[in-house]
Amino acid sequence: MTRMIRELVIATGNPHKVDEIRAVLGELGIWVVSLVDIGAGDLPEPQEDGSTFAENARIKARQYARATNRMVLADDSGLAVEALDGAPGVHSARWAGVGTTRHERDGANNAKLITELAKVPERSRAAKFVCAMCVAAADGSVVAESHGEFKGEITARPRGGNGFGYDPYFVVDANGRTSAELSSDEKNARSHRGAATRAIATQLAKRLALS
Ligand code: IMP
Repeated sequence: MTRMIRELVIATGNPHKVDEIRAVLGELGIWVVSLVDIGAGDLPEPQEDGSTFAENARIKARQYARATNRMVLADDSGLAVEALDGAPGVHSARWAGVGTTRHERDGANNAKLITELAKVPERSRAAKFVCAMCVAAADGSVVAESHGEFKGEITARPRGGNGFGYDPYFVVDANGRTSAELSSDEKNARSHRGAATRAIATQLAKRLALS
C-alpha cells in the first residue's frame, strides 16, 4: 500500500456509512479515517446539486479532497422506487423536507414513502438502493469511480433495528426480511454500498499495481 491509500478519508458525517465502508475496505487491508478523525468534521458541506448519484459523489470527493489535502472517498446514495418513477432518488436524504436530526428526517421520509405507496398495489412495490462512489486525490483529480445496486421491495410494515434510513421498509428476501434485519456483515455482502466499495477497492489495487 502506498502512503496515499493508507490515508483514505471517508467524506461523510453518517456514522452508519463510515462503519459499512470501513468494514469492507478494512477487510481488504485499506485503512480509512473519517473527516472527524482528521479534525475536519466542521468543513462546510458541499452543495449536492448534481442530477445523478455519480455527479454528487464526484462533487463531494473533489471538494473534500482539496479542502483536506488528502485522498478522499465520497459516496452518494438513495432509494429508487419503480412505481414512483425512481423517486426519491438523489433527494432521498431530505425527501420529506422536514426534521433537523438524521433520525427525524428518516422518520419523516419513511412516513412520506408509505403515504406515496398507499396508491400503489402491493405487487408493484419494487425498489432498489443505489450507491455511487468517487475517490479523488488531494489535487481534486478523480482516481476511481464505482456504482452498486441492492434490489428489494417496499413494505408498509417496518421491521428490524439495524442500519438506518429506509432500511426497516426495504424487504430483501423471500422470507420477508428487511435490510434492517440483516447483520452488518450480511448487509455489506449484498448491499449497494458494499458492492460499490468492493469495486473501488479493486480499482485502487490495480492503480497501485501499475504505479
Ligand atoms: P446521502 O448521504 O446524500 O448519500 O443520502 C443517502 C440517503 O439515502 C440516506 O439519508 C437514506 O435516507 C438513503 N439511504 C442510502 N443508503 C441507504 C441504506 O443503506 N439504507 C437505508 N437508507 C439508505
